[in-house]
Amino acid sequence: MTEDVYRRLCETMAKRGGRYPGKDIPEFYAMAKILFTEEEAAVSNAMPRGFNTAGAVAEAMGRAEEEVAPLLEAMADKGLCSAGELEGIRFYGGPPFVPGIFEFQFLRGTSTDRDRKLARLIHDYKKAFDAAEGPPKITFPGERVIPVDRVIKAENAIHTYHQVSSYIEKNEPLAVGTCFCRHQAGLIDESDHCGKPDDVCMQFGAGAQFVIDRGMGRKITKEEALEILKKSEEAGLVHATINRQEIDFLCNCCACHCMILKTALTQPKPGLALNSGFMPVWDTDLCTACEACIDRCPTTAVTMGAQDVPEVNLDRCIGCGACATGCPEEAISLEERPGIPVPPVDQKALKEAIKASRS
Ligand code: SF4
Ligand code: SF4
Repeated sequence: MTEDVYRRLCETMAKRGGRYPGKDIPEFYAMAKILFTEEEAAVSNAMPRGFNTAGAVAEAMGRAEEEVAPLLEAMADKGLCSAGELEGIRFYGGPPFVPGIFEFQFLRGTSTDRDRKLARLIHDYKKAFDAAEGPPKITFPGERVIPVDRVIKAENAIHTYHQVSSYIEKNEPLAVGTCFCRHQAGLIDESDHCGKPDDVCMQFGAGAQFVIDRGMGRKITKEEALEILKKSEEAGLVHATINRQEIDFLCNCCACHCMILKTALTQPKPGLALNSGFMPVWDTDLCTACEACIDRCPTTAVTMGAQDVPEVNLDRCIGCGACATGCPEEAISLEERPGIPVPPVDQKALKEAIKASRS
């Protein structure tokens, strides 16, 4: 059973897709055998698509619900499946490896021997996967940046999906966990830290409830959420999330560790693979050529041009606004960037947009 169940787990993870789907290479199995026991792998393999009750998963396995329900609970605690309740009924979902299982492993920010081992094995799998597959071909962005809205020019139309504060306002509960990308890097090498804040990975609504229930994050008030936002913006972190108007998480990313930004930077034109729909413009009368905007830009999109006036390369600019928030002279603002598609409304619309872009 051992090899067979993990081989089928690899197929399961391949079907679920995501940034790092299952791939039949030794590094996948080395990682999977630490993440999943054989019994947990068998449960994961049997989980039907979408959200299901323990009874439905048990039926798919030909086992009794009383046996499978505690296994699913233990798997949710380990971040191997998601769980939630609707009208008093508990449902479980089988997530892809990324986004999903990988993030759940490090949101708690703990540093046990198992965490360290997993951090290394997951790193090895991603590296081997990238070496075999090369950079992904992004034909329609799966993720997007949310701009720092206070630096958007007043005359621009700002939609609620351009404002992180609108998600903080409308969602309940809210949660924060540890940046899994920076934490994973630190577990592998303690000296590998860029000094950016760690406690900034936010979840909204049902996603927040799941991480609170499983001890992967802590519940926060709206005021705390706004403080985290401010702290992230001051540090020059990029607000990144899935490319939908309905979102349930917000990463605050650095270019040195975070997967969303690092993936975009593998693309020939990162500014088209990941964007907020805005771009910076300079008030040359205010600029003193201090170069802070060049240092702050996470994608090296800004250079000093002729007459000591900064210039932006839109092929690299993701429209985050970090240059503007770091300018001591307030010489930079964001304005709408033509040609960037409006974020799809929901997951179905996002999938359709990605599919259409490939045809
Ligand atoms: S940070 Fe502001 S003042 Fe400094 S170079 Fe950039 S635009 Fe000019
Ligand atoms: S120039 Fe750099 S810092 Fe400014 S919005 Fe573009 S990507 Fe962000």
